[in-house]
Amino acid sequence: MTHKIVTSIALAIGLFTGNAMAHGDIELGPNKGRILEFSTNETMHGEVTEADGKVEIAVLDKDMKLVEVKDQELNATAGTREKPAVLAVEKTKDGFVIPAPKAGEWIIFQFKLDGSAKPITARLHYNTTVCDPCKQPEWRCACEKK
Ligand SMILES: [Zn+2]
Repeated sequence: MTHKIVTSIALAIGLFTGNAMAHGDIELGPNKGRILEFSTNETMHGEVTEADGKVEIAVLDKDMKLVEVKDQELNATAGTREKPAVLAVEKTKDGFVIPAPKAGEWIIFQFKLDGSAKPITARLHYNTTVCDPCKQPEWRCACEKK
């Protein structure tokens, strides 16, 4: 009995946290892309945009200015928990390009300032449902949600 109660409380907290992460706290960058935290102190960001089935990740500094990509590294994984799929990352001078995952999948990014840096993990729920007020897919929507 006690065990069941504890489990349902843990579940409730888990669901609540998941919901809070999905809505609110979504920040958009200068190109209306989704901002990801690529540092532990807000000094490096990723701005995620999408065009023609490709997802682009620009690297921005603390002032949201474009950073030239040289030594930085990015890994991306999507798929499902049971069957994660590593995405091919192409490096350009303005950032990185990956193929868009399936709608509804999570993209797990691992960003490194250079080959020896500690990786920073950022997650994006690639929810392509279009938000009515802003006409953007949910993954790049910053509308206030109730
Ligand atoms: Zn919206």
